[in-house]
Order: sequence, then structure tokens, then C-alpha cells
Amino acid sequence: MFLKDRAAAITGSTSGIGLAYARALAKEGANLVINGIMPPDEAEKLRADLAQEFGVKVVFSPADMTKPAEIAAFIAEGEKAFGAIDILINNAGIQYVAPIDEFPLEKWDQIIAINLSSAFHTIRAALPKMKEKGWGRIINTASAHALVASPFKSAYVAAKHGIAGLTKTAALEVATKGITVNAIAPGYVWTPLVEKQIPDTMKVRGLTREQVINDVMLEGQPTKEFVTVEQVAALAVFLCTDGAKSITGATLPIDGGWTAE
Ligand code: NAD
Repeated sequence: MFLKDRAAAITGSTSGIGLAYARALAKEGANLVINGIMPPDEAEKLRADLAQEFGVKVVFSPADMTKPAEIAAFIAEGEKAFGAIDILINNAGIQYVAPIDEFPLEKWDQIIAINLSSAFHTIRAALPKMKEKGWGRIINTASAHALVASPFKSAYVAAKHGIAGLTKTAALEVATKGITVNAIAPGYVWTPLVEKQIPDTMKVRGLTREQVINDVMLEGQPTKEFVTVEQVAALAVFLCTDGAKSITGATLPIDGGWTAE
């Protein structure tokens, strides 16, 4: 329970990788600010279930990560509840698959806002209190697509490369303040985000569901296995330990060897 008395704010934590981070940090005793797009009754149930299962305090924020004012309120709400946000995980993300010349403008703007700009807004809002405390952990969920590209994912790849740059810059700015800033770069993790892109990928590439899974998704992942959400969360927990104190500015692949090729 090394995170007892710490508070963690995690964007996009009602599902997939974000929910796994929330569960893993709560298991170590952290209080939580969770966030995501979810009907209020379901969000309240999730909030209460996490609080009960792990014996921690949990606040739910419905902040829309495309809206800077709501993002600032998300951090402010956490600080009001817990004094400071000690651990900030930027994780909210969406995907859209289409060739550049057919890519809908609003999808480009939405992906850049959620997958990249929201991390700037949360970091900007959370840093002053972290600096005051002289301790902080900022973890950005990047992707193997922060290091390499795939066709038809222009906005996503641009946003994730941007996250790697933001991570490095923030890390340098706070290197002497007891705050580390890192990005985790997963390969394909089996979550709703991945499941949802299968039909579009079938369409743009003219493939069956099985072909998308085996020949597109797992083709470049040498282990031929999806990464699990628990494995990604375990890396985040490690980054919060004292042992990880000197890891900062890094984009850490957890991708079954994808980016080694
Ligand atoms: P997911 O769809 O399961 O979860 C996405 C979360 O983001 C949900 O909680 C959703 O409510 C939230 N969200 C979406 N739009 C939002 C908005 N406007 N405001 C607030 N919250 C919003 O997806 P996931 O696969 O768990 O992805 C989480 C992160 O991991 C994303 O940043 C994604 O790019 C990254 N990632 C995923 C994979 C993968 O294979 N699944 C691989 C690499 C990186």
C-alpha cells in the first residue's frame, strides 16, 4: 500500500487501460479522481464499486477532454477533494481510421484535442501543487504510434508523437522538482478502442475481421499476443515507486517487440 495518502487523477478511466490504472493504483492505496464519458448512473456505480472494493476515496469527474475549462475543473475538483493531485495519468483517447484525403476534419480536431491537447491542459493545471509538494508522477498513455506510424491513422499518430514530445519537454522543466514525467507506449491492447476500429479497418483495407486481427493488428507484434491492460497498469505502478525516480522524459514501449523491428 505504498500509495496510501496519495491521490491519482486519471483521464479516460471508465474503460480499458484507464480503468486498469485506476484499479492498480487503488490497490496500492491511492485515492482516485476518475473520468470518462459515461451515463451518470453508471458512473456513480463505478465510483462506488471502486471505493468499496479498494477502501479508498473516489471522485468521478465527467469533464470532456475536448473542453479546456472542464479539464481545469477536473484538476481543481481533485485538488479540492485531496489537497493535490500527486499522480496524473493522461489516458483519454479515441481512434479514427481513414485515408488522409478522406479524413473528416472534425475527427482530426477531436483526436488532437482528446489525445494530445488535454494532456497539456491537465499538466498545466496540476503542476503548481506538485511543485509545492516537491513530489509528482505524470504518466501519459502514448502508444507504439508515438514511435512508428501506420497508414490511415494520421491524427492518432500525430497526436501520439506529440505526446512523446510533450512528455520530454515537461520532464526537463521539472527535473529538479521531485516530479517525473513519462509516457507508456503500448502496442495493441485488447480494449473497446481496439474492438471499435475493426469494422473501419475491414472497410478501408478490404479484409475480414480475422484478417484485421491477425494480419494487421498482431502482424507487427512479434509475440503474436495482445498486451493486457493489467500489464500496462503494472508499468504505471512501477513508475510511481521510488525505484523509478530517475526515469523521466522516457517513452517506454510495452508492445510485444513491435517497435524493436
Ligand atoms: P477505451 O475506449 O477503452 O477507453 C477510452 C477512455 O477515454 C474511456 O474512459 C472514455 O470514456 C474516455 N474518453 C473518450 N473521449 C473522452 C472525452 N472527450 N473526454 C473524457 N474522456 C473521454 O480505450 P483504451 O484502449 O483503454 O485507450 C486508452 C488510451 O490508451 C488511449 O489514449 C489510447 O490511445 C491508448 N492506447 C490504446 C491501445 C490499445 O491497443 N487499446 C494501444 C496504445 C495506446
